[in-house]
Amino acid sequence: MSLQTKLFINGKFIDSKEGSTIKVLNPHDDSQITEVSEAKAPDIDDAVAAAKKAFPAWRDTQAAERGRLLLKLADLIEEKADELAEIESLDTGHPIRDTTGLDVPRTAFTYRYFGGMADKLQGSVIPVEPGFLNYVTREPVGVVGQITPWNFPLMFTSWKMGPALAAGNTVVLKPAQVTPLTALKIAELMAEVGFPPGVVNIVPASGRTAGQHLAEHQDVQKIAFTGSTDVGRSIVQASSTNLKRVQLELGGKGANIVFDDAFLPAAINGSAFAIFHNQGQACIAGSRLLLHERIADEFLDGFLALAKSIKLGNPLDPETEMGPLTSAKQQKAVLTYCDIAQQEGGEILTGGEPPETPELSKGYYVKPTVAKAQPQDRVCQEEVFGPFVSVTTFSSEEEAIDLANSTEYGLGGGLWTRDLSRAHKVAGRMRSGMVWINCYKRVNPGSPFGGVGSSGYGREMGFEAMHEYTDAKSVWVNVDAKLPPFYKR
Ligand code: NAP
Ligand code: MG
Repeated sequence: MSLQTKLFINGKFIDSKEGSTIKVLNPHDDSQITEVSEAKAPDIDDAVAAAKKAFPAWRDTQAAERGRLLLKLADLIEEKADELAEIESLDTGHPIRDTTGLDVPRTAFTYRYFGGMADKLQGSVIPVEPGFLNYVTREPVGVVGQITPWNFPLMFTSWKMGPALAAGNTVVLKPAQVTPLTALKIAELMAEVGFPPGVVNIVPASGRTAGQHLAEHQDVQKIAFTGSTDVGRSIVQASSTNLKRVQLELGGKGANIVFDDAFLPAAINGSAFAIFHNQGQACIAGSRLLLHERIADEFLDGFLALAKSIKLGNPLDPETEMGPLTSAKQQKAVLTYCDIAQQEGGEILTGGEPPETPELSKGYYVKPTVAKAQPQDRVCQEEVFGPFVSVTTFSSEEEAIDLANSTEYGLGGGLWTRDLSRAHKVAGRMRSGMVWINCYKRVNPGSPFGGVGSSGYGREMGFEAMHEYTDAKSVWVNVDAKLPPFYKR
């Protein structure tokens, strides 16, 4: 395993100007893995300047060639899959079975999708008045700042950089401080496949200072952010300096509705995946279970048994099904919500504490937690972002829809039923960017991803993402160049 620990600016790995560093910790045992250079404002300025300089040539590179580099990158990620999976597991605490089976392959899959997309983004011709031709092209935005969180640090490089680069933009990406390692590794692979210097710059840094500086930067034309709703708000304010475009993928409080006609074994299994996969650290986690009162007891019997059986352990052990939370801060946040749930009258049905296992005592572990709660409780309204699911019952379809729509968020939600018309009716009425019927948390690079309300705006993935990273340019042609278009002289 070889790690990259320096800033990647203008095609080179370099130290930060002031020499500051960030300690990178292993969430399994709180030990230090390494330290990486920390970008400050002057380094961000250099990264933006490199991206600005690289932009004209990258924009004018044939789209198929931009795509070819992304396709090569996808292949190289697959070649280096084991190494990438190991680094991601060490840095984030994701079980190796997940990084090997999901994070790494999905990252390759997404870069490949956008590599294929690069030369398929087409303009259009609009049927306007006779004598005129109007065509519309899609132009890259320019220098794009991208700020990513710590929950899927590797995969999010592909969600963010895949479409941006395919469309001809250049990038300055700031990964989360707690998990910078795989983004830097991707920089190494990008250099290896031949992305020109400056096209991609990766700068681990503090969000509050350097991230803010990137969001305010006059030479950045767009900022794409994934993270908390509060920081999303400050990004919008920072963006006003030069009215840069903003794309926000923020928090969620996914409603997962189980109707009384659901096929329960599948609903139980899928609902556990919805909340416990990735230790619940997913903006689309199914963190609110809404159960029809007629099946609530039977569902909970199976669901609690499954939650209790999930194997916690060292992320590098292939048997491990759930690792630690990614930071001590997040572990503390989740345990605090367990207390809040009880203070507000909720009942913890299982979990609510770190595991007793001595080998895990230094890590940031929390047991899979299920709590009964009321819809207006904080744990049903605020994003916990951990292996914590609230359980509420309902008695009618209308009530289920009202409950599902009762938070400020609107990212993803799901429902389990065998009634075809109910499935589509309820899906249509959920205030949510994504809905899963008889499944949960399905994602594909072809399908738009994003939310409404406090979950942000804009869409990642698919053609929608290519539109997010381009501006429409409308070109008018007077077909008869000798015809005076207005004054009859
Ligand atoms: P966060 O503060 O929103 O962090 C996300 C990214 O934004 C990080 O790279 C962070 O940098 C950066 N950042 C922070 N403040 C910034 C600012 N003023 N300007 C520009 N960038 C800034 O999220 P968090 O504190 O890590 O997690 C808190 C909560 O956010 C979680 O509990 C969860 O509810 C939510 N969250 C949601 C998602 C999602 O997928 N939608 C992902 C992660 C977290 P640093 O490296 O300095 O932190
Ligand atoms: Mg770490």
